Amino acid sequence: MSAVPKDQPPASTAPNGDLLILSTLNDDGSRRWLKPRPSPGKFWHARRAVAYLLIAIFTAIPYLTINGKPAVLLDIIARRFTILGYTFLPTDTLLLAFTLLIIGLGIFLFTAIFGRVWCGWGCPQTVYMEYVFRPIERFFEGTPGRAKKGWLQHSPARKFLKLGVYFIVSCYLAHTFLAYFVGVDQLRIWVTRSPVNHPTAFAVMAIVTALMMFDFTFFREQTCLVVCPYGRFQSALIDRQSLIVAYDKNRGEPRGKKPAPHTGGPGDLSLKVIGDCVDCGMCVQTCPTGIDIRNGLQMECVHCTQCIDACDSVMAKLKRPLGLIRYASQAEIAGEPRRFFRPRIVVYPLILCILITGFVITLLTRTPFNATLLRTRGAPFIELPDGTIGNNARLKLVNREDQPVELHVTPLEHTNLKIEATTFTLAPSEIREFPIVISVARDQFQLGKATAAIKINGGKDTELVRTFQLVGPGSMHDAASKKAHESMHTDSPEHEKHDDETKEQPH
Ligand code: SF4
Ligand code: SF4
Repeated sequence: MSAVPKDQPPASTAPNGDLLILSTLNDDGSRRWLKPRPSPGKFWHARRAVAYLLIAIFTAIPYLTINGKPAVLLDIIARRFTILGYTFLPTDTLLLAFTLLIIGLGIFLFTAIFGRVWCGWGCPQTVYMEYVFRPIERFFEGTPGRAKKGWLQHSPARKFLKLGVYFIVSCYLAHTFLAYFVGVDQLRIWVTRSPVNHPTAFAVMAIVTALMMFDFTFFREQTCLVVCPYGRFQSALIDRQSLIVAYDKNRGEPRGKKPAPHTGGPGDLSLKVIGDCVDCGMCVQTCPTGIDIRNGLQMECVHCTQCIDACDSVMAKLKRPLGLIRYASQAEIAGEPRRFFRPRIVVYPLILCILITGFVITLLTRTPFNATLLRTRGAPFIELPDGTIGNNARLKLVNREDQPVELHVTPLEHTNLKIEATTFTLAPSEIREFPIVISVARDQFQLGKATAAIKINGGKDTELVRTFQLVGPGSMHDAASKKAHESMHTDSPEHEKHDDETKEQPH
């Protein structure tokens, strides 16, 4: 990994030269099941408070409304996305593009400053694994090195009981998760009625519950190590000044247990200078991804801070300064000064400001409806009976409001329209397309091109003007059009039929 300092062995090699394999693989290739030892400390308690808060927010959001609309509803089937009282449709492509760019760049900036803080403190995988599922497991099976006391200690039922509670929690998680996509009202109907009435919804719920069970019972840390791309982008997203969970090797090495003082004799290690790491292995035993932080920054490290708490408790017992493992940048660990401002910390926020400004302007100037003119396939232009030259197009109207809207379409200046109606009533969030023939007089064409314009009025002083570039006689399409036209008249009757259809398009 490029994020590993040059003076440190690569993460695949331990400082003692041992080749490291995947932290969750045994030498024979079988899965090494991890049961991390809990390390209650200041970070563990703070993370637990954050985790419970996030779980409460995650559970509450589907029930919250803003101006009568759900705070968040991602209705994929109806293709309507309601966020903080605003409804977005698939046609809001500019807003969607801004949103994705802001999220992407925000992740870049956040990671450049704080490293993988999100993984350790906010990611649902970590939150639910460490503060819901592992505590349940420890309740039934005890903690590593401390078997469960009481009737559960030898009871074969403890695994079934654990899986039963896992199932209940997975059901809750699946239902809450799906409430974001269907809304709590729909969810309530599904939950209170027989699955026979809604087999598809029931199947979706069952699959999501099964996936949750699979993830938290079996797959666990593999989600972070194998599935999630964040760790793999780590080396590109962070630099030597980013905050990471780091082992201070200058202070800790050479690791080892200090012998009793003044034992004397030829092998007296007290004469050697030994680092603060007593090689107790607590930082490894507590790691939820099974790695040894002392091997340097690794992709598998989710920055959960459990090794900080574990090591601090050891240092406290030994009456040595805390922070042998701590939040620090690679530069700080190497003894270099911390430098907050570097090019990416300046450039990312600048671009973010531009994107956020663009998003806000687009949102504030968004009209309650939208109209788009789309050119259709077929003959590039046609001569209409009144002598004007027309192009076939489609008019796409979108109602972005949560109430019906009445739209009036009128041609501007020299433009003529053939359309099935000039007034349309669109239902809330409805998207409708109409065939339309837009024409202008032949003498309006210059070098085969002419501009037509239409106005769409939605009342409340809201109107849109859409222009359309017509192609006509003299354009590059003209020769081809003539040729096609001639061949249509000389070829099969099928072509004649098509020609008739084109001419007849009254719309
Ligand atoms: S090395 Fe430390 S911070 Fe990283 S995942 Fe393991 S315990 Fe968490
Ligand atoms: S917990 Fe601290 S002292 Fe113990 S092995 Fe890890 S770094 Fe060394």
